[in-house]
Amino acid sequence: MPKDKQLGFSTRTIHVGQEPDPETGAVTAPIYATSTYVQEEIGKNKGYAYARTSNPTRTRLEQNLASLEGGVASRVFASGMAAIHALCTLYKSGDHVVCGNNLYGGVPRLFNQVLTGYGFEFTYVDTSDPKKVERAIRKATRMVYIETPTNPLMTITDIRAISEIARSKRVDLTIDNTFMSPYFQQPIKLGADIVVHSTTKFLNGHSDGLGGAVVCTRPEQAESLGFVQKTAGAILSPFECWLVLRGVKTLAVRMEQHDRNGRAVAAFLSRHKKVKKVFYPGLPDHPQYALAQKQMTGFGAMISFETGSLANANKMLRRVRICSLGESLGGVETLISHPATMTHAALGKEGRRAIGITDGLVRISVGIENVEDIIADLDQALAAI
Ligand SMILES: *Cc1c(COP(=O)(O)O)cnc(C)c1O
Repeated sequence: MPKDKQLGFSTRTIHVGQEPDPETGAVTAPIYATSTYVQEEIGKNKGYAYARTSNPTRTRLEQNLASLEGGVASRVFASGMAAIHALCTLYKSGDHVVCGNNLYGGVPRLFNQVLTGYGFEFTYVDTSDPKKVERAIRKATRMVYIETPTNPLMTITDIRAISEIARSKRVDLTIDNTFMSPYFQQPIKLGADIVVHSTTKFLNGHSDGLGGAVVCTRPEQAESLGFVQKTAGAILSPFECWLVLRGVKTLAVRMEQHDRNGRAVAAFLSRHKKVKKVFYPGLPDHPQYALAQKQMTGFGAMISFETGSLANANKMLRRVRICSLGESLGGVETLISHPATMTHAALGKEGRRAIGITDGLVRISVGIENVEDIIADLDQALAAI
């Protein structure tokens, strides 16, 4: 096969790490459901000794994701949170992290309720203002950790601007690229040192498995994370690796359709009388519309909107039929959720108020169904308000 850098994105989703099985020619990667590997003699194996350390199905997925994000290697873990936890083990007690103040709810829960107990320190700032990031960096800072667009308010951070600050201070920049996927946003090209993913979402795309990935730009990061896989053991199972390898083959066409539907649903919501505000980077009235156009090649499928109150949110959420009320995002089906009681419940009322997540906010992950059906469903549900 030609070197993967010469191949287009869709070709790489389908071919990198997805080579036919050398033994049988099977076009689809085998699931190596094995815990161990037979050795010929003491110390002589075929590169695989025990499945916590390595598994060929996992190796294939790690090659594929590294190629899609433009990294040197990737390491996959049992969930997005397991990947973020593994990433943090690259740092040590006393290290300080500057992070966005509007992250996926599970991340501050990990940082504040687990890692501070191990001597880590975290400062939360509005990373859409690079000056605030620069001011928060101290001597002990080792990483800046950002989601862009944020969940659920869709605030955008200028990755290139932050990467220049991080480089000048010798601090790693990590971007959680779950919302855009590498199809619409390439953080490493914009200067990021590390990319993390919940593969549970768009990369897998079918809402049928959990997983997480850390994509590295330096071989030593990948080596350390390989050591963490072997040592701490929160690896992704071969079956789950296979699901992502299967799902990622259609990433480009799914993202195109998610984006088309996302734009249409955002336009519908922004015209609707019962909707007080729409948060979507593809709307010209989004405060960072220009930056979104510069940094991303599409706007994606994540939209939040304000219904005005908890009662209004509940009235409409009880009525949806095509859209399913539930946690998660990034699947082919439209999922609708209520951040205040679901993804961001752990923040507490004060925490949510500080970053602007109201009780009336509803988040939608627009699927790839016929968009008229999604819009008609939202319209009849909003009539309940
Ligand atoms: C879902 C999600 C995570 C956590 O991933 P899991 O696979 O659920 O553990 C992290 N970041 C973002 C942006 C997410 O949406």
